[in-house]
Amino acid sequence: MVRPKVYVTRRLPFPAFELLKKYCDVDLHDSDEPPSREELKEHARGKDALLCLLTDKIDREIMDLAPDLRVISTYSVGYDHIDVEEATKRGIYVTHTPGVLTEAVADLAWALLLAVARRVVEADRCVREGEWTIAWYPTFMLGSAVYGKTLGIIGLGRIGTAVARRAKGFNMRVIYYSRTRKPWLEEELGLEFKSLEEVLRESDFVVLTVALTEETYHMIGERELRLMKPTAYLVNTARGAIVDTQALVRALREGWIAGAALDVFEEEPLPRGHPLTELDNVVLTPHVAGPSDERRSTLFRAVVEDLMRFFRGEEPLYRVSYDRLCFMA
Ligand code: NAP
Repeated sequence: MVRPKVYVTRRLPFPAFELLKKYCDVDLHDSDEPPSREELKEHARGKDALLCLLTDKIDREIMDLAPDLRVISTYSVGYDHIDVEEATKRGIYVTHTPGVLTEAVADLAWALLLAVARRVVEADRCVREGEWTIAWYPTFMLGSAVYGKTLGIIGLGRIGTAVARRAKGFNMRVIYYSRTRKPWLEEELGLEFKSLEEVLRESDFVVLTVALTEETYHMIGERELRLMKPTAYLVNTARGAIVDTQALVRALREGWIAGAALDVFEEEPLPRGHPLTELDNVVLTPHVAGPSDERRSTLFRAVVEDLMRFFRGEEPLYRVSYDRLCFMA
């Protein structure tokens, strides 16, 4: 078999990398930093496959430079950085890593929700910085209760469902808005399907677990934030561009909502001194919702195995199908 040529856009220190090298000619961008656009263009030339991350924009220009390209595999669930429509037109397969990250992301969504509601980060800072000067008083560190409140989920896919499952232990009413209604989950988990506006109006916590597409870009802007209760919190573990950041900063400064907890941003890394970093009613994490343990290696193995499947002439397990995306839209 002719050895496929694969450009790997990041250092991936996992055992499955040896498997990849055994069967493919690997051109590795041996760094934790992403390749520059110029490097990406140069190294994509002549490759059969790209193994990329969510920060690598794989568009028509890259595909033009790589006429032999047959498969693009991303080490991420989201694939908004890949022009899947263009790839599909050219017969290029796109694969991703759904499933493995689900529970880890749902855990972090909950960690963020609890942290912002109970002011965990502020409280920690208060202790460390010597501001805990009175043992306790009735108005000290007031926050919001979580137990028994209403949770709104926007985008009821794998992660949204995992977030909803965890709400049972908090005795919450769970409402959701998604592109497709899911009666079987409504029955199993006691969820209520609502319009986007109703979810925003009625929820005490709105968690965004929706995929980023042209339709969901800035899905949460000024109008939507103004629909939320002034006591409500927004949690985003999906993609930064689902929220209009400027509108969110105004909402947080002017008290349209009580707070936000964000793992993802329109611009990543979030620039130093960004207005969000100056607000107390915000908890920020640097896009770390995916697994933080050995499952990162499992995830990489899934990517490599799907590439191998493709090159053996088998159907990859985790193919992103543009036809299906259109059908579902
Ligand atoms: P998923 O199962 O594909 O769920 C995404 C959901 O978005 C789908 O259920 C889909 O709805 C919904 N959706 C798409 N377009 C919509 C629209 N126009 N209006 C309403 N709903 C829409 O994906 P997942 O595994 O749960 O992951 C969700 C997202 O999390 C990923 O796309 C990724 O961007 C992000 N993510 C972030 C991290 C991180 O580190 N922060 C890690 C993993 C994933 P229907 O099913 O109702 O059609």
